[in-house]
Amino acid sequence: MKPAPFRYHRPSTVTEALAVLAEAGHDGKVLAGGQSLVPLLNMRLAAPRELVDVNRLDELAYVRTDAGAVRVGALARHAQVEHDADAWEAVPLLRQALADLAHPTIRNRGTVVGSLVHADPAGELPAVLALLGGVVELASVGGRRTVPAAEFFVGPLESAVRPGELATAAVFPRPPARSGTAWREVARRRGDYALCGVGVLVTLDQDLRVQAARAACISVGPTPVLVDLAGEVGGRPHDAVDWDAAGAAVAAAVDPEDDIHATAAYRRHLAGVLTARAGRAAVEQAAAGGSGGLKPSPPGNRGAA
Ligand SMILES: Cc1cc2nc3c(=O)[nH]c(=O)nc-3n(C[C@H](O)[C@H](O)[C@H](O)COP(=O)(O)OP(=O)(O)OC[C@H]3O[C@@H](n4cnc5c(N)ncnc54)[C@H](O)[C@@H]3O)c2cc1C
Repeated sequence: MKPAPFRYHRPSTVTEALAVLAEAGHDGKVLAGGQSLVPLLNMRLAAPRELVDVNRLDELAYVRTDAGAVRVGALARHAQVEHDADAWEAVPLLRQALADLAHPTIRNRGTVVGSLVHADPAGELPAVLALLGGVVELASVGGRRTVPAAEFFVGPLESAVRPGELATAAVFPRPPARSGTAWREVARRRGDYALCGVGVLVTLDQDLRVQAARAACISVGPTPVLVDLAGEVGGRPHDAVDWDAAGAAVAAAVDPEDDIHATAAYRRHLAGVLTARAGRAAVEQAAAGGSGGLKPSPPGNRGAA
């Protein structure tokens, strides 16, 4: 099928883009990497009258790392973030999760911010932003606002972006000192959306006991599901954590549904197994000194469980 007719706009500055979006209102749609939107247009599941292509907004094609966070501009592609050495050192979870996001060709074109706005419950990046407590920055002709991850993902394929708004950047905070992170997921084929994926963040105290731990799961609810694991693993020495118990707590907390790809029971099982696997890897990383200087996780986090 071909898309329904639309008017095509290609602004070259953010100011111009915001003016076009303001005029388009509810009829407008931003086109970033097009990896999700173009199929939706072709299947006529989306039919905007005004398509605003932001690919000329070079001012938003950045990845910047400072003492507090990695800031990703709206035109930074997945691959750009994945291969950014400073971002890797500061927030390893970005590369850990991006390695499992689709195929390299899609990562060359798709944008991190586009993934967040798209808010697919099976997408890795909404869970990464939620786990780290990040924010999305939005702009319109009326001004700017910053939305925390906890309020940004409203439902399946529904984010807090309003008509006339452009998401300009996402901010992924550095985890605290003595933290480790890991991402694990299972998909039917490499590059497919995950049947279930889990990211874990563990922070140790000075005595290498677990100070804080939480998990974020995908494909088991309408938005990323965050589970605080302090009750299960808090206060335990780093090498004496019962990660299977933590996995069981996550499996009990999620509420997946049956669909054509997997039963709810299998997804729940995966949530438990993947939490345990990610938790072990994350605590090992934290005990080894935290994020800096780590080697990239090998491709192929995915596997049967
Ligand atoms: C075969 C295939 C496999 C894939 N597998 C995965 C996967 O495993 N995991 C995963 O997470 N993703 C996967 N994707 C999707 C991919 O990550 C997309 O890149 C991403 O979902 C959307 O990014 P985009 O830049 O392509 O956005 P687009 O497709 O251009 O836009 C997506 C939506 O976001 C809106 N939007 C985009 N940018 C902005 C902005 N700056 N401001 C306001 N609105 C905006 C658009 O209007 C649209 O509604 C897959 C895609 C394909 C084709």
